[in-house]
Amino acid sequence: APLVFDFSEGDRTQVDLLGGKGANLAEMTKLGLPVPPGFTVTTEACRYYLERGEEPQSLRVQITMALRRLENELGRRLGDVVDPLLVSVRSGAKHSMPGMMETVLNVGLNDYSVKGLAEAAQDERFAWDSYRRLIQMFGRTVLDIPAERFEHELDAVKARAGVATDVEIPVPALIELVEEFKHIVSDATGREFPQDPREQLDLAMRAVFNSWNTDRARLYRRRERIQHDLGTAVNICAMVFGNLGETSGTGVCFTRDPASGQPGVYGDYLSNAQGEDVVAGIRNTLTLEDFAALDPSSHAELTRIMRRLETHYRDLCDIEFTVERGKLWMLQTRVGKRTAAAAFRIATQLVDERLITRDEALARVTGHQLAQLMFPQFDVDAERTLLTRGMAASPGAAVGKVVFDSATAVAWAARGEQVMLVRRETNPDDLEGMIAATGVLTSRGGKTSHAAVVARGMGRTCVCGAEEIEVDAAARTLSVNGTQVAEGEVLSIDGSTGEVFAGELPVVASPVVIYLEQGLDAALEVADEQTGELVRSVDRLLRHADQARQLRVRANADTAEDATRARDMGAEGIGLCRTEHMFLGERRVLIERLILADDPSAREAALAELLPLQRADFVSLLEAMDGLPTTIRLLDPPLHEFLPDRTELAVRVAVAQATGRGEEADVAKDVTLLAAVDRLHESNPMLGLRGVRLGLSVPGLFAMQVRAIAGAAADRIAAGGHPVVEIMVPLVGSVMELHLIRDEIDGVLAEVARDAGVALHIPVGTMIELPRAALTARRIAEAAEFFSFGTNDLTQTTWGFSRDDVEASIFATYLDKGVFTVSPFESLDRDGVGALVRMAVQAGREVRPDIKLGICGEHGGDPESVHFFHDAGLDYVSCSAFRVPVARLEAGRAAL
Ligand code: PEP
Ligand code: MG
Repeated sequence: APLVFDFSEGDRTQVDLLGGKGANLAEMTKLGLPVPPGFTVTTEACRYYLERGEEPQSLRVQITMALRRLENELGRRLGDVVDPLLVSVRSGAKHSMPGMMETVLNVGLNDYSVKGLAEAAQDERFAWDSYRRLIQMFGRTVLDIPAERFEHELDAVKARAGVATDVEIPVPALIELVEEFKHIVSDATGREFPQDPREQLDLAMRAVFNSWNTDRARLYRRRERIQHDLGTAVNICAMVFGNLGETSGTGVCFTRDPASGQPGVYGDYLSNAQGEDVVAGIRNTLTLEDFAALDPSSHAELTRIMRRLETHYRDLCDIEFTVERGKLWMLQTRVGKRTAAAAFRIATQLVDERLITRDEALARVTGHQLAQLMFPQFDVDAERTLLTRGMAASPGAAVGKVVFDSATAVAWAARGEQVMLVRRETNPDDLEGMIAATGVLTSRGGKTSHAAVVARGMGRTCVCGAEEIEVDAAARTLSVNGTQVAEGEVLSIDGSTGEVFAGELPVVASPVVIYLEQGLDAALEVADEQTGELVRSVDRLLRHADQARQLRVRANADTAEDATRARDMGAEGIGLCRTEHMFLGERRVLIERLILADDPSAREAALAELLPLQRADFVSLLEAMDGLPTTIRLLDPPLHEFLPDRTELAVRVAVAQATGRGEEADVAKDVTLLAAVDRLHESNPMLGLRGVRLGLSVPGLFAMQVRAIAGAAADRIAAGGHPVVEIMVPLVGSVMELHLIRDEIDGVLAEVARDAGVALHIPVGTMIELPRAALTARRIAEAAEFFSFGTNDLTQTTWGFSRDDVEASIFATYLDKGVFTVSPFESLDRDGVGALVRMAVQAGREVRPDIKLGICGEHGGDPESVHFFHDAGLDYVSCSAFRVPVARLEAGRAAL
């Protein structure tokens, strides 16, 4: 099979084989754009090499032939003594891995061809400068010589010549520099710098292959979830020179603004420079307008090509180009990366320009991007002082007083301060401080560091790895680029951009949230022109997603207030109302009384007091959700969660007994409470007396809740409403549990309907949140009118991970070691938990074809998981109100 393709042979569909860069160079060549000729060595050749430590046998000959074709086309020979052909050797993997792999330019120069180049270009300086660049790059990347050795020598030569910049070095000094560089090579490797052009090329190619497996490349792939076995292609391309004087130059440009999505071209140009100079920021770059003034004809051609590429790729393209003595050359293009706002705007612009369909536009935006647009933001009009930049680890805009340790964070937050926890890096001991802080800032560690993972998990704004910050925790100060910030002073961080600002920046609600909550008009009123276009784009794409999707989207909401908010966000029902939140605060004493009741009449009295309160809860909830399905779950958590803390209670009792002080009745009550706490204590409460087990052990408890639900529905009907309510039983593992509890539930429902004189249709279903429930779903479906997958508990019990502890304790290690790339509590584990879900879906439908199937664990709002639930054929997902729009968008994308 061919291992080498000329640029004129391939096209952009061949990214697997030719890598991104190679495939797009081929595509541009096919379009007739001015691409310097060259060829691509395939990823297959790379994989072969990486596996066996040597190139495939036929590769050498294939390269010889490709080189011959290139030489014949250009009428020049690689490294010839007259007018030599030089080539660049560049990496180009399937997925772009910026800065991770190697490049060698000017391959083909040696002690003779350098003179030929000087002669042909009529520029001696240029030729010797190119030669020293080759030895420098080759030495560093191919021969592994420390870069400083060359840089040091370069500085020495500049000092001797009395010049400040590279471009001022006179020719004799450059020639001397080349000699010095060659010495460095022979000294470091024990052999001379290779003079044979073909040997240079082969070694450079091998170095590119090897660069696939450097530590930093592996780390990058792990972070970006790119497979390790893809390998890279190598592009060998005739050199064109941007450093041939003032009529030459090099630049990068975008066909639209990748930051804002604003239409119009954007770019930077640097005259008399080679590619790496632009990136290195050595000199200030020019805008494209300046470039137009400098070289109108190249600029006009570039503009034409940009339009051509955009209509061809039908998307934002980014481009690298070079001008060699007034002639424009395209060195690279690809569909460009962009911010969340730009993604939405560009997608709808392209629909309006009739380049893509609405389906395609929807496919090009993601739930992650929408979520980013929903976080509060710093007021764009506010003045700001940027101190430094780290990694955007967890989005949001946070403002707080700087503290340097967890204990201070907790203490200050307890007295109502907003605090910003600043650490070199965080570890599990910092957890409390992270919970107390509004924002977390670290100077070390990447996007999978402890700080980043934990902060994302709890939705805390976080910037990590801001390496310019020096934290002196002992002195309680930090310094950054000459600015000192002491404990108690205020910093603002933007977790979506990684920026760190001095002082307090005003935070405003995202216009996208205003749109979601109050509608398009309200949002447009407060938006400027660009934001207005963004909000309109979000509106259009969300509405299209709503049309396209098959999954319904409900919300997890416990109160009428939450329910109303969820409705505003587009929820089509409530998939989970957790009733435990209704027993907090003052109602705790009622539950306490229920737990302490020592005879049936005391228990009934306690339940009778709870009943009207519950009924009122449900009336307001059903009113807020009128006409939409509302799933109410019977009480789930272990009862001792409603009792006071054991230690506190024990101390109180001991003190009272020792001192003899305190009202006798109070002390007696505390003693009974303590006994109850001890009686109900469980080592593993999550696996204990909760869910349906509670309903079967505490007589009358579930019946009271069902009576309240049915009564509320009857009230709503009487008031002219349309309650659509469903009752859900948690933590069922056996159909017997469900049969037993249904006997009680069905009895109460019939009784309430009879008493109220109305027909009540209240389906009863169960959560599937234990592996046993999934494994016996066929039986359970006999007694359940719907299933709702509780993927939080299902993940916990399938993996045997405690959902409350594990994220802080071992996930950072597991993510680092690659056991998984994302927490299974955040994104559904398809192979394990997902298999159980699929199994139960199939069993449920077989037994009861009209069974309704939903999911109400946290995964209901996770983009990747939503796609899984679509594929698994569920009827709906249910998630927190804030994630409803994300789920709507992703459900639409999943259906494309
Ligand atoms: C679940 O377990 O996924 C669930 C939704 O219930 P909870 O989170 O209340 O345990
Ligand atoms: Mg659960």
